[in-house]
Amino acid sequence: MALLIDIKHPDWMSDDQLRADLLGYYPGADIRIGANPGNPEEIEMLTVSSYYPGEALRYPNLRLIQKTGAGVNNILADESLPGEIQIARLQAETSGNEMAEYALACVLQEQRHLRAYHAQQRAGQWISYPPRRAAETTVAVLGLGRIGSLVARRFVDNGFNVVGWSRTQKDLQQVVCHAGEAGLRETLAVSDYVVSVLPSTPQTRAMFDFDLFGLFRAEAFFINIGRGDLVDEAGLIAALDAGRLAGAMLDVMSIEPLPADHPLWQHERVQLTPHVSGYHLGDAIADIAENYRRLQTGDALLNLVDRKRGY
Ligand code: NDP
Repeated sequence: MALLIDIKHPDWMSDDQLRADLLGYYPGADIRIGANPGNPEEIEMLTVSSYYPGEALRYPNLRLIQKTGAGVNNILADESLPGEIQIARLQAETSGNEMAEYALACVLQEQRHLRAYHAQQRAGQWISYPPRRAAETTVAVLGLGRIGSLVARRFVDNGFNVVGWSRTQKDLQQVVCHAGEAGLRETLAVSDYVVSVLPSTPQTRAMFDFDLFGLFRAEAFFINIGRGDLVDEAGLIAALDAGRLAGAMLDVMSIEPLPADHPLWQHERVQLTPHVSGYHLGDAIADIAENYRRLQTGDALLNLVDRKRGY
């Protein structure tokens, strides 16, 4: 049984590097790389970061697609994907904690006016503003799954008031949890920062549109570390220009890399990063090796995606 690694993001991690890491957990495993897959009939497990429609069909005996990340929307969007192929994603503490750190960095930058001071420095201006206090600031975390709950905890630990929103009602210590449509309104109405850690599903796609931004507080910042296609980007720009919210920090975009002529690049109240909030695989590498082992022994696989639910 062969595992094929075809990450397709050499700027992030090479197939060879992941292969070497996996062999550390599972010496002697038949692990191949995208550049040299060998006989496609021997590939039963495929590990990808990006996935192209129809890719699964290249391997007639494929049983498992293992994503090297948490978002699987591109794989699920493949209409040719055979129903019996299972999909697993990663549920790693490492990247979840990195994403919490990223969200905290975005919020602290605004709390201490660092962006404003940077602009003032270029203009040679010496003007001071009082820092905003965490205890008087409310952060909303939308999506309270594996990553969202780590994000919420990080803000609680740093003294912020935290509200959360998910599909089903949650009970998290020191987090005021809401669910459902009415819960979203309540969440947005009180929040100075809104952090989205939601997956891309038919229900969430394009949910952040001009109308929804109308429920934000005019002083609020939107931070998206979930998926880019949750945002109607024209609606976001219109909402920023109409003063419906104060600014946006986006780690994920609807098209990545963002096209050079996209208006988000130049908008003065938008900050972009190239999908880096959760970066290292860390403890997740052990899970990939473990799924390879379990696929051989027939044990239940780790972190399987519910294909119907979409995450
Ligand atoms: P989980 O599946 O653990 O959690 C998803 C959360 O979203 C759950 O709380 C779920 O609610 C909630 N949710 C889903 N659909 C809805 C909805 N329609 N309305 C309200 N809440 C909803 O996912 P993770 O925390 O592991 O990951 C979240 C996302 O983060 C991933 O899907 C991925 O897209 C993104 N990501 C981005 C990275 C980056 O580098 N920028 C890196 C890693 C992940 P419930 O529990 O009630 O079902």
